[in-house]
Amino acid sequence: MQEDDQQILIAGGGIGGLAAALACSRAGWAVQLVERAPAFGEVGAGIQMGPNVVRVLQGWGLEQALKQVAAFPDVLRVRSAANADELGSLRLGERTRALYGAPYATIHRADLHRVLLSAVVQQGSTALHVGQRLESFVDTGSGVQAQTADGLQLQGQALVGADGLWSSVRQQLLHDAPPRVTGHLAYRAMVPQSDLPAALRGQEVTVWLGPKLHVVQYPVRGGEWLNVVAIVEGAVADGGDVQDWDHATHTRDLQTALGNTCRPLQDLVAAIQTWRLWALCDRTPMAGAHEQAQGRVALLGDAAHPMRPYMAQGAGMALEDAACLQRVLAESGLPMAQRLQHYAQQRWQRNARVQARSIRNGRIFHATGLVRWGRDVSMRLLGERLLDVPWLYRG
Ligand code: FAD
Repeated sequence: MQEDDQQILIAGGGIGGLAAALACSRAGWAVQLVERAPAFGEVGAGIQMGPNVVRVLQGWGLEQALKQVAAFPDVLRVRSAANADELGSLRLGERTRALYGAPYATIHRADLHRVLLSAVVQQGSTALHVGQRLESFVDTGSGVQAQTADGLQLQGQALVGADGLWSSVRQQLLHDAPPRVTGHLAYRAMVPQSDLPAALRGQEVTVWLGPKLHVVQYPVRGGEWLNVVAIVEGAVADGGDVQDWDHATHTRDLQTALGNTCRPLQDLVAAIQTWRLWALCDRTPMAGAHEQAQGRVALLGDAAHPMRPYMAQGAGMALEDAACLQRVLAESGLPMAQRLQHYAQQRWQRNARVQARSIRNGRIFHATGLVRWGRDVSMRLLGERLLDVPWLYRG
């Protein structure tokens, strides 16, 4: 049994788990992190980070590391998937920096993961155990004992479940129903811009809106690569296990799923040979602080609040959770359960709001008929006022 009175246990070494490890060690705690995969890594896809998220990374001194790998688009442009007309735009770049104290960034997930992992290693107080799946835990009231499937036993002052959408920590803590299948499918691809015809390359965030579908493209890797994600409404094709539902798929499948769209969008899709397909799952928005922490066990990231990607904030909320965890763990003289209660109270309502807005955004993005008409008119009239999200970006 590895034990230490001043250590925190973390299940999961994705973006959320590594952010949590960094946060805990910056608050002065030793960390034992278990990751079930045999090696650390991330899927080949991008994520967008609003200024609220970049500010968290800046607070951890990671601004320079981020600059080396991320892209910082100057504008987000919304277009009709039917005819490519511009519906609205939001200035990012300097405007975002001036308003919110940080830029809007787009990044390859593996690059963000690497930045966090190297910060954790540099910090020096985290033991990383790969190939170890957390199987069970007991909150004894004076500590937490955890066990992995391979028989590794760990003991600490608290356990953070950062083990993602299908979290086993959540399952044991809340005993609630599994995540729900949304009926939305995400096709993702990433290509070097140099492999694309010049007209298809881009340094902006472009969101294409169509009936029951949308496509988002943005630069990553300092602008040298383009990330594209197309989301359509449809069932899981083979009824397979959605937990492992990450398929290679073909351009022609996506073309069929998109149906009639404008020429520039069709050209973009046709220019990319390799796509991967995910079935999107989520949970209903959090209903209370008990879903974020109980006793000496806290949930973080997708384990606590999996959301649809229509606010582009799932990983962002995991990073914000971690920053909050750092603050409560640095509070001296309070019992651990009380600190985690503070964490839960400070986080759950914001997370619930982002989950709810993500569902709503999906409906607006995919609108048909009159709602779609109203959306397009409002976006043309209100533009930036509709697309900016001050309550979220101010944090
Ligand atoms: P995960 O990334 O799922 O990590 C969980 C980790 O725990 C994994 O490494 C797993 O192997 C490990 N694990 C699981 N069970 C155990 C166990 N029992 N023991 C030990 N280890 C375990 N977010 C954004 O902020 N911006 C975006 O633009 C964005 N776009 C998205 C687009 C799509 C199509 C999708 C699907 C999501 C998007 N997201 C975005 C959301 C984001 O991907 C997730 O919210 C984020 O990755 C969650 O991180 P996590 O660390 O909580 O969970």
